[in-house]
Amino acid sequence: MSLFLNVVQVSEAIAVVRTIAVPCGQELVPLHEALHRVLAADVRADADIPGFTRSVVDGFAVRAADTTGAGESVPAILTMLGRIVMGSSADLSIRAGSCFYIPTGGILPDGADAAVMIENTERAGDEVLVKRAVAHGENILLYNEDFSKGDVVLSRGRRLSAQDIGVLAAAGCTDVPVTRLPRIGIISTGNELVPPGTRPGPGQVRDVNTSVVASAVRDLGCSPVPYGIVRDDRETLRKAIATAAGECDAVLISGGSSKDDRDMVAAIIAENGEVLVHGIAIAPGKPTIIGRYGSVPVIGLPGHPASAFIVLIAVVRHLILCMTGDMGSSLRTVQATLSQNVPSQRGREDYVRVAVSGGIAAPLFGKSGLLNTLVRSTGVIRIPAASEGLETGTQVEVILW
Ligand code: AMP
Ligand code: MG
Repeated sequence: MSLFLNVVQVSEAIAVVRTIAVPCGQELVPLHEALHRVLAADVRADADIPGFTRSVVDGFAVRAADTTGAGESVPAILTMLGRIVMGSSADLSIRAGSCFYIPTGGILPDGADAAVMIENTERAGDEVLVKRAVAHGENILLYNEDFSKGDVVLSRGRRLSAQDIGVLAAAGCTDVPVTRLPRIGIISTGNELVPPGTRPGPGQVRDVNTSVVASAVRDLGCSPVPYGIVRDDRETLRKAIATAAGECDAVLISGGSSKDDRDMVAAIIAENGEVLVHGIAIAPGKPTIIGRYGSVPVIGLPGHPASAFIVLIAVVRHLILCMTGDMGSSLRTVQATLSQNVPSQRGREDYVRVAVSGGIAAPLFGKSGLLNTLVRSTGVIRIPAASEGLETGTQVEVILW
């Protein structure tokens, strides 16, 4: 059933985008290209990590029991049998009262169960004076203490960080199964728009949305595919949407989404698919369309760049998380104290830009069409639909840009 002309709550809009999201499938990428991609399958260690018991300090491999009671004034005296060489697995072992010099990461000789830091020792010919006792297991990393062969080191749905890439390398995962990057078609509509490289004439404005939307979806782990500026002409717009829907996994169209008789986006989607939502109880961002062109999700974003950006964060983000299978990413937030009352209309979710400094969030009021508050703000606070506003001194969660 079409909900055309019915304004829905943000939670419902999110539920709708989740139902139309089509998972993007998966591919293998080399380890060095996997940063920020979403893992499509669990990755298991192909070997024990570490594969041998090793020292985490430069010093001496010892039997902990031989150092019992050792101190500055009564050192334990051990015989040095030799040096452990990095990367070698020579079968070495120690007996009671002896030790080996060992570098950080060196393989522990048989019989040793701890390492003494070099700072706590003194050499005297073939003898080593140990001035601090060590406990069993001290200063060493045990065989497979980190991960055992077959353990899941990273789970499906995780967006890969730099540390994750390191763990994949340790686990021997050189071809990483990731979800395919969704291709997101981007169309800006409006007779008044000119490209950023053109100086706007009277009545004209530069196309901001192509750049904002492309950057935002790239940030969310997608490949933006810009289709440029399209005139408010039914035939041209119909062709552009058809092309984008044929080539992309989802299409984001900005402008022409309000309930004005000149606005055609909803009509064109309805002809070739289905309009599921037209109007969300969100400010800024009310004139938003959620639909399907054939089976391809299509979102009509409001024309105002600030409104389009809020809808991207509040709603479109959920579409993209579903498409990429990203199960871990969340918005970055910070707690702050509100410096001023913020009124809000009941029944609508309000997003208010704030500048945060020293734990205080100062609302930046102003027209939603202004760009300057987007860059002067640290982020936004979300005022739930049920609230009539927030009072000075309220603890708020700021969603950071
Ligand atoms: P519309 O939703 O098409 O009625 O547009 C609402 C407002 O947003 C109008 O002032 C437009 O000029 C402006 N606008 C629409 N698209 C863009 C764009 N791509 N870049 C900058 N401003 C835009
Ligand atoms: Mg327009």
